[in-house]
Amino acid sequence: MEVEILVVGNEILIGKTQDTNSNWMAKRIAKYGHRLKRITTIGDELDLISSTLQNILKRKPDIIITSGGIGPTFDDMTLEGIAKGLNRKLELNEHAYNTIKKVYERAYKRGLLKLEGMTNERKKMAYLPQGATPLPNTVGTAPGVKISEKDAIIFILPGVPAEMKAMFRNVITPILKEKQGKFIERSFLFSGIGESQIAPYITRLEEKYPQLWIKTHPRIGLSVEVEVSITCFNVDNGEELVNKALNEARTIVLNLNGKIKE
Ligand code: ATP
Repeated sequence: MEVEILVVGNEILIGKTQDTNSNWMAKRIAKYGHRLKRITTIGDELDLISSTLQNILKRKPDIIITSGGIGPTFDDMTLEGIAKGLNRKLELNEHAYNTIKKVYERAYKRGLLKLEGMTNERKKMAYLPQGATPLPNTVGTAPGVKISEKDAIIFILPGVPAEMKAMFRNVITPILKEKQGKFIERSFLFSGIGESQIAPYITRLEEKYPQLWIKTHPRIGLSVEVEVSITCFNVDNGEELVNKALNEARTIVLNLNGKIKE
């Protein structure tokens, strides 16, 4: 499947929060053999959320995952932005409303919160785009959301990492597993020759194995230590091809008098 992630949050764009959510999701999407095609990061702006979603939908990914901006405050506007982008209204979802109410009641009874009842801010989290299904938030309050739009499924997840992860594991991982593809990644480290010196050989290797993605990554300073990584998605004899290419890459390094560190 093809996946896109939309990260929403002003605090990410001013450097206050580092976006670790998309990295965490990217690893899992790749692990189950799916292709994450793009990660887009934008601020909490209604029109921007709506137009960005419309652009993502034009690329026809199977799954779109958003993170952030579904909390109780006025600047959390992901749900409204997504609704606008889909040309749907926001409507009070009774199931979401009751769930949120229960969470706050429990927190009030346990003395965790001083304010009782459903305020407008709390109620706001229960307004979901028409046709949406709320996803239980097992570690927080704002429910996540699942929406089907033509052939795409949109998952709207919270920004708080623990909440995002719990929801991802409960709802998205089973889908990734069910439609699992094959992702292979192998790599080795070498030193003693620079990345630029090995570059023409790697280009030739890449041409020889067009099904693989063969890449060098400099690790320290002026390519003192370089990683060769070979990855592929859903290639029938991927394991065999990757091993062959990896051995050839090792031979190239040794022929150039490089040292393999492994
Ligand atoms: P909640 O559902 O709990 O109200 P929310 O969807 O409103 O969450 P945000 O208000 O966007 O979430 O973010 C809450 C906090 O989560 C941020 O202050 C930040 O610490 C963290 N956070 C948000 N987005 C990310 C991200 N992409 N990566 C890592 N941390 C994030």
